[in-house]
Amino acid sequence: MKNRNKPRLQDPIERGKNFNEVSLGFDEETAILEANRCIQCKKPFCMEGCPVSVNIPGFILQLRTKNFDEASKILKETNMLPAVCGRVCPQETQCESKCILGRKGESVAIGSLERFIGDYAIKNAKPKEIKNVAKGKVAIVGSGPAGLTCAADCRANGLDVTIFESLHEPGGVLTYGIPEFRLPINIVKSEIQSLKEIGVDIELNVVIGKTIFIEELLEEYDAIFLGSGAGLPIFLEMEGENLPGVYSANEYLTRVNLMGAYKKDSATPLVKGKVVAVVGAGNVAMDSARTALRLGAEKVMIVYRRSRKEMPARHEEIEHAEEEGIEFILLTNPVKILGKSHVEGMEVVKMDLGEEDEKGRRRPIPIEGSNYFIECDQVIMALGASPNPLIVNSCPELKTGRNGVLIVDENLETSIKNVFAGGDATSGSATVIQAMGAGRRAAKSIVERLKSK
Ligand SMILES: Cc1cc2nc3c(=O)[nH]c(=O)nc-3n(C[C@H](O)[C@H](O)[C@H](O)COP(=O)(O)OP(=O)(O)OC[C@H]3O[C@@H](n4cnc5c(N)ncnc54)[C@H](O)[C@@H]3O)c2cc1C
Ligand code: SF4
Repeated sequence: MKNRNKPRLQDPIERGKNFNEVSLGFDEETAILEANRCIQCKKPFCMEGCPVSVNIPGFILQLRTKNFDEASKILKETNMLPAVCGRVCPQETQCESKCILGRKGESVAIGSLERFIGDYAIKNAKPKEIKNVAKGKVAIVGSGPAGLTCAADCRANGLDVTIFESLHEPGGVLTYGIPEFRLPINIVKSEIQSLKEIGVDIELNVVIGKTIFIEELLEEYDAIFLGSGAGLPIFLEMEGENLPGVYSANEYLTRVNLMGAYKKDSATPLVKGKVVAVVGAGNVAMDSARTALRLGAEKVMIVYRRSRKEMPARHEEIEHAEEEGIEFILLTNPVKILGKSHVEGMEVVKMDLGEEDEKGRRRPIPIEGSNYFIECDQVIMALGASPNPLIVNSCPELKTGRNGVLIVDENLETSIKNVFAGGDATSGSATVIQAMGAGRRAAKSIVERLKSK
């Protein structure tokens, strides 16, 4: 069996100094070579691993015969943002983990092939066809992957769609969270442009729950989709977290990605740390650590309370961070942040792993008397996020569950009739593809509801 082809990467030393994309993807020749590794299984297990059931063998077959238009069409039937997903989906735990070739060797590089066709589609795909299946007006709150997908599907079925976004740029986490070295902003902009071309209206700088209320939207629109994400950072509530020099990953990445804090003429202030400790080990933590490095930090550490095996970030991002020189301080948890008028360091305690929790991850237990001091002048807390309570506070009829997530039924309808919700707003922090899947399901329910009008 031939070995898996690997995408070209920027040199680790060089890329640590710039914000250009790390992975350069496949060229045409390598994409076709890789597509030829797929044995076109009659029962494609890879599809079972894909949360939106992309026809993986179907698009790969078209790719290897150079029929890129047909490959784009197949991909876009179930995945509105293939160029994004090809770059950021955790394929190694989804489609690629189920690929039959992975049982005895290496799986097909499905993500890299998806990215190749996604990039082709951006340049060549025709606008989505609009069918007059349903009639009415839909308001979408939030322009992240959930909102964008819901908007595309509602519009494709003939509905009039307006997206309301609180920030001054659309895209949600794709724009303000994931750095350019993983997902170039032009890719996100092109995908959003294709929505505008089919007639989706995007109103920026509108905060639902403050500028306009849900009751007001319901007077004008036949249905609402809440795709407002989970943008409220979680802190450890420990001593010293309010010291200057402590950032939430959310604020830190937003200042850099959305407001261009790394540019000389940026209007956004950002204190650049020399020795930076990032607490957490998910994608958000890796993005923060690698951003700090690119902003000129001399030393960047990931501080995580479990072991490498439990780190939730994508394997590729962990490997890339290591290659770039990020240090990993594992089985270690912060106790307090120290400093008089600014961060000077962090007291941490060593951890052991005990019994498995409900998610099957072993619980971290502090080792008594093992506390020690880590010197640093900046701490970035990347511990996850929950939905912002603004919308719910302004509309108490919306029922919420644990950590403030919106409660929805099997059709993704909330406790208010004709108000639907999905993505991180209902699941808590999850993945791009899961948010897109929810946007699609909600659109289906909305179209079904407005068909009979
Ligand atoms: C730094 C970072 C890295 C990540 N890396 C990955 C990765 O590699 N792979 C992966 O699959 N997932 C990753 N994720 C997770 C993924 O990005 C999210 O799961 C996904 O973006 C959720 O989509 P969403 O549409 O539900 O919400 P979001 O993308 O959060 O979009 C919600 C939008 O709603 C807007 N909004 C909120 N409240 C209001 C309001 N009241 N009025 C109007 N607008 C409002 C927000 O401004 C935002 O634009 C990452 C997340 C972060 C933060
Ligand atoms: S499981 Fe692997 S080899 Fe089989 S169709 Fe899917 S990608 Fe191709």
